[in-house]
Amino acid sequence: MLLPCLACESRFRPDDYFSACSDYDRRLDRVIWTCPTCGNRDDLRVFTGELGFGAARHGRFDVHDRVRVPGLRRHRREVALYISLDRCHWHVPRR
Ligand SMILES: [Zn+2]
Repeated sequence: MLLPCLACESRFRPDDYFSACSDYDRRLDRVIWTCPTCGNRDDLRVFTGELGFGAARHGRFDVHDRVRVPGLRRHRREVALYISLDRCHWHVPRR
């Protein structure tokens, strides 16, 4: 499946999409995604089976929009967030 940028509506293959994640914040359980096309930055949380877009406020992360991604999995580690989908894997280092 293709994953969308919510700002410019470009769509990306999973490898291009998850390679654009950075700055895993373990406390907020949040990564920053920077659109390769328009440069928009979104804060998102990776869930099992979906992405949650939102914002950090008052030390917590509130999800406002969800995009279902069947098969998406996540594993929190001390130094990074590991993401897997369709036998591909990515890791987002802590900032
Ligand atoms: Zn975009």
